[in-house]
Amino acid sequence: MSTRMDTTAASPGFSLPVPDISAWRAGNTGVEGVWHFDSGKPGRSTMVSALVHGNELCGAWALKGLLEAGVRPEQGRLTLAFCNLDAFDRFDASQHDASRFTDEDLNRQWLNERIDAGDTRERRRAAALRPFVQQADWLLDIHSMHEPSAPLLLTGVQPRNLALAHAMRSPEHIVVDAGHKDGVRMRDYGRFGLPDAEAGDTRSLLIECGFHGDPASLQVAQDQCVRFIEQSGVVGAQALAQQLPGWRMPDAPRQWALEVTGPVVATSSAFRFVAPYTGLELFEKAGTVIGDNDGVPVTTPYDNCVLVMPSVRQARAGVTVVRFAQRTLL
Ligand SMILES: [Zn+2]
Repeated sequence: MSTRMDTTAASPGFSLPVPDISAWRAGNTGVEGVWHFDSGKPGRSTMVSALVHGNELCGAWALKGLLEAGVRPEQGRLTLAFCNLDAFDRFDASQHDASRFTDEDLNRQWLNERIDAGDTRERRRAAALRPFVQQADWLLDIHSMHEPSAPLLLTGVQPRNLALAHAMRSPEHIVVDAGHKDGVRMRDYGRFGLPDAEAGDTRSLLIECGFHGDPASLQVAQDQCVRFIEQSGVVGAQALAQQLPGWRMPDAPRQWALEVTGPVVATSSAFRFVAPYTGLELFEKAGTVIGDNDGVPVTTPYDNCVLVMPSVRQARAGVTVVRFAQRTLL
């Protein structure tokens, strides 16, 4: 499918190496790529997932690191999942967008009707992963981005996840967003998508660690793993510091909640921004022109408007090219 990759867009240099996960590929659950450890003691069931998109390598590096270090739950259970192995197997740094998925985006298939249909490789993989997602109380899903950007922690609209992001004290930018209209993300599946009053103890976060090919994305993935696992209580801070030296980075100097108010959807592949935005740009005045949507100016809808994840790499009719957000200091 030619729509998957825009070869005309300039691509930043890809310097994060491909991790060799062959030693960890089989898993220990009967499902390829999925590891599950049970302390035998009460506690949360905590899950960390990577490679939901096959070209997002930082999470695979972090999971490999957790496995190599022998991290095990002291309480509760810990699940580690390499998700879209078929797509990852096709990874090529010179065309990294081409291995985001094989048939369709795995992070839009998290509806039982789609999973049960089983008519694409991603839906069949979602079916294999579903029992592990269902049993998890807390989920951290590790991703990276098309463009260079500061890390973004996506909480969904549930306040419980924003509170967890605040308790983790990093990264600086937290995105409160409702997901995508073309499907459901893993972090919004089942109990994770319920409002606070009905969701019990569940928490789910999606970390966008920076550009796919930036080695710094790996540091972010490692740091977020430590913070998330520590908050979940399945492994204590002391054991994490001993087993994963150098993984925890300094706390963010401050944290902003960026509440997404709406997307800008391209009307054609001619969409252009007026400057090379990389995300998190702040526009003080409403009505500032930021782009051209095939001849129609795109303006900021309110004062102090922030751009979230601008990208024209996959721009075509119907594709979100940027989202507007209102920011609040936590
Ligand atoms: Zn992703």
